[in-house]
Amino acid sequence: MTSIVWFRDDLRLADNPALSWAAKQGPLIALYLYDDATAGLRPLGGAQRWWLKQSLIALDMSLRDKGGQLTIAQGDPATIIVDLVAKTKASAVSWNRIYSEPAMERDTALKALLSARGLKVQTFNANLIHEPVKVKNQSGGNFKVFTPFWKAISAEHISPPVPIPELSFSATSLGMNISSLPLNPTPVDWATGWGRLHAPGEAGAHRQLESRYETIFNGYSDDRNLPGTEGTSRLSPHLRFGEISPRQVWHKTLAALESHGPQKGIERNAWAFLREIGWREFSHYLLYHFPLLGSQNWRSEFDQFPWQNNPAFIEAWQGAKTGYPIVDAGLRELWQTGWMHNRVRMIVASFLIKHLMVDWRVGEAWFWDTLIDACPANNTASWQWVAGSGADASPYFRIFNPITQSEKFDPNGSYVRRWVPELERLDDRLVHQPWEAPALVLHAAGIQLGPGYPHPIVDHHTARQTALDAYETIKKKSPAS
Ligand code: FAD
Repeated sequence: MTSIVWFRDDLRLADNPALSWAAKQGPLIALYLYDDATAGLRPLGGAQRWWLKQSLIALDMSLRDKGGQLTIAQGDPATIIVDLVAKTKASAVSWNRIYSEPAMERDTALKALLSARGLKVQTFNANLIHEPVKVKNQSGGNFKVFTPFWKAISAEHISPPVPIPELSFSATSLGMNISSLPLNPTPVDWATGWGRLHAPGEAGAHRQLESRYETIFNGYSDDRNLPGTEGTSRLSPHLRFGEISPRQVWHKTLAALESHGPQKGIERNAWAFLREIGWREFSHYLLYHFPLLGSQNWRSEFDQFPWQNNPAFIEAWQGAKTGYPIVDAGLRELWQTGWMHNRVRMIVASFLIKHLMVDWRVGEAWFWDTLIDACPANNTASWQWVAGSGADASPYFRIFNPITQSEKFDPNGSYVRRWVPELERLDDRLVHQPWEAPALVLHAAGIQLGPGYPHPIVDHHTARQTALDAYETIKKKSPAS
C-alpha cells in the first residue's frame, strides 16, 4: 500500500513517527508542501526561508541516499494531496502535528476530507515532548506559570526516540524543484554567505548538539548569559525546523550526562540546558491555549498602553543605529547572521519596548523576518515576556539598563567590539558608553560621534521615567492589574 508522508516542521528521518508509520504501510512518497494558500497561516520570514531551503536540500539528499527523493509542491494542501493521491493511488497519508491554530484547522479539515475518501490518515506528536492538551495542573486546569509547568513535565516519563525506519519508495515524477520555491529572502537577499555560518539539516543538527556538550556541561548555567562566549547550544533553528526533536535532545543529553559520571556542576549545567527546552515547551503550550499570542496581549490591560511607535525610532532600532553599543551589536548580529544571543535578544527587545515605547508586535515582526529560528511560539511568547504583557512575564517596570547589562554580561566588551568594530579601540568601560568618552579619547580611538557611531537616540534615565509613567496610566485604568 503506497502512502504519503507530509513533512512540515519535522525535517528529519530519525524520531519521525509519521515517517515510521508510513514506512510500515509499504512504499512511500515523501512530500514537502510549501503552503502559501491556507488563510491565517503566517508567511515565513526571509531568514527562515533561507534556512528552510537549505534544510529541504539536506532532507532530499538523505532521502536520495536511501533510494528515494523529496517531492516538492506549492499551494493548497487539500488540492495538492488529493491530486497526488489520485495520481499515485496512495491509500494512506501521515504527518506530525503542529499546534498553531490555522495549521490545526487546516489539518483537521484535511483529515476529514481524506478520511471521507476512504484514505487511512494518521497524525502524531513529534515536535514537542508533551502534547499541550495533555499537560494539566493538579486541579485539571492549564498552567500559566513556568515553574510548576516545568516541575510537572520534567517529572514525567519521556519515551525514547525512534530510529530511522527501513524505507522503500514509490516512484513519482510529480513535483517541483526546491529552487523553484520562493525561498530567497526578499526584497534584498541579505543571507549571502550564511552557508559558511550555519549547517541546516538533520546531520548538522546532531553535529551541532554533540559539539556543544563540553561547553554546556562545563558552564552553561553562567556562560549562557555571556554573548561574547559560545556558551549555548545554537540549536534553535534546528529545533524550529524539526531537524532534531526535543525528545532526541532530552535523551541524548541525559545519556551524555550519564557517560560523564556523577559530578554536581555538570549535572546542574545539563539540567539548566534541559530547562530551556522546557521553556520551548511552555511557549508552545501557551500558544496552543492562547492562539492569539502573536497578535494580542495575554494581559488585556496592555491593550490600553500608550505606545508611541515613532517611525524614526523604529528605523534606527532596525538599522542598529540607537547609539547604545550592546543594542546595536545585537541587531547587527541578527542582520548579519540570522541569529542573536538570548541575553541580547532580551536587551534589544526591552530597549524597543521600554526606551523607545514601541509596541512589542513591531519588534516581534522584525524578528520574525530576520531570525533563522523565528518560531510562532517562542518568538511571540518571548516578546510578550519582555513587554510584561505575557503569561508569567517579566514585570513591565523591570527596565533593563543597556549600559549596566552590557557591563555585566559583556565585561571585556568582546561582543560589542565584534559587532561594532568602530568602537574597538575604546577601553573596557567606555566601549559600553562611548558618549562618556572625552573628545581626545574619541579622537585617539578614531571615533566621531554623530557622523561615525551615532549619539544615543534617547537618554536612558529620561526614557526609563517616560516608560514608567506610561505604565502607571494603564495601571490606573485597570486597577485589577
Ligand atoms: P540554548 O540556550 O542552547 O537553549 C536550547 C534550546 O532551548 C533553544 O535552542 C531553544 O529551542 C530553547 N530555548 C532557549 N531559551 C528559550 C526561551 N527563552 N524561550 C523558549 N525556548 C528557549 N527562540 C526561538 O527558538 N525562536 C524565536 O523566534 C525566539 N525569539 C525570541 C525573541 C525574544 C525577544 C527573546 C528574548 C527570546 C527569543 N527566543 C526565541 C528564545 C531564545 O533567545 C532562543 O531560543 C535562544 O537564544 C536560542 O539559542 P540556543 O539554541 O543557543 O539556546
